[in-house]
Amino acid sequence: MRAVFIPLPSMIISEPPAAEPLTDTFRYINGMDDVALQQVCRDAGAKISHADTLKAYVFRHGVTDWQSMHELPQTLKSHLQAHISVLTAEVTALQQSDDGTHKLLLKMPDGKEVESVLIPGAGRLTQCISTQIGCAIGCEFCLTATAGLTRNLSCAEMISEVMAARQFTRSPVRNIVLMGMGEPLHNYDEVAKFIRLVTDPKGMAFSPRRVTLSTAGLVPQIYRMMEDGLDCSLAVSLNASNDETRSRIMPINRKYSMHALLEALRAYVDKHGRKRVLIEYVMLAGVNDQTHHAKELIQALDGIASTVNLLPFNAFPGSPWQRPSDACVTAFRTELSKAGFVAVVRESRGRDISAACGQLKTEVIHRRKITG
Ligand code: SF4
Repeated sequence: MRAVFIPLPSMIISEPPAAEPLTDTFRYINGMDDVALQQVCRDAGAKISHADTLKAYVFRHGVTDWQSMHELPQTLKSHLQAHISVLTAEVTALQQSDDGTHKLLLKMPDGKEVESVLIPGAGRLTQCISTQIGCAIGCEFCLTATAGLTRNLSCAEMISEVMAARQFTRSPVRNIVLMGMGEPLHNYDEVAKFIRLVTDPKGMAFSPRRVTLSTAGLVPQIYRMMEDGLDCSLAVSLNASNDETRSRIMPINRKYSMHALLEALRAYVDKHGRKRVLIEYVMLAGVNDQTHHAKELIQALDGIASTVNLLPFNAFPGSPWQRPSDACVTAFRTELSKAGFVAVVRESRGRDISAACGQLKTEVIHRRKITG
């Protein structure tokens, strides 16, 4: 069955309004950078050199009980006890897939819930982090989009997602992907802080190339990443080979065209030399899955060092879109490979638990309504 396009309102999407995160830099240690940690030491009347030790306890070793931080002076421990908290996300629902994928529903201090997904790979675990509660970007194929944006997540809340995963699993998380609920670049300041904290060699010490930020294409913020020297891998959710199709399925394209987005990616690749951009391409039957689309995509990506992830659509209840046939997916990938692209078909992990972002939260809300 071919998908039918429903014309969208003629308005050009404006930049979504910013939603304030629940943030309190001087309350939650999870969101504290070096400056804030040193201030805590000063406030406690302790040497600022203890800031690195405190950071190692919390971010590297996951210690959250102040009194068991034996290398810190008692004055600092008492100050921490009295004034500083560790933001802990409570696991309120859990799903496990046959393929080992775990999906956690995490409750934040204001009662709002977000999803975080743990995906096993060859000897490594990847965590998919949410950056917002809901999302304002409105991609037509995304369940999270249907609920709109509630608010941004603070850096402390995103770090609490990583800490919750550590408690949940004994296997170390090797990769972080900012591909959960929300558009990371719509929450730029908190996400940039999060990336700096998780890649801090004295803290969580993730390699920057193992931290991937995925954006729907907020062009000015991609340039801002370059200006700020934000060190991570970049993925772009492109999903179309031309402006017409992209604008139909991703309203953000009416604000920042494919041309502008691809120019930003060329500038990004030029600036970063050997870095490749990951192009994500959700394949929707009859919409963007034909070989002529592949040929168009090859032209569009000319000059951009990239790897293409082909993601056959993971249908959710009520979705108007269909998964493409295996033959279409293979033909599409072959076309890209012939042109010299590294193109990989990625099956959605955890398909039996509906692992597309937003689905666990939607199901739990639905169940709660039924059970009262
Ligand atoms: S795909 Fe990502 S950016 Fe698009 S609506 Fe969903 S969460 Fe937002």
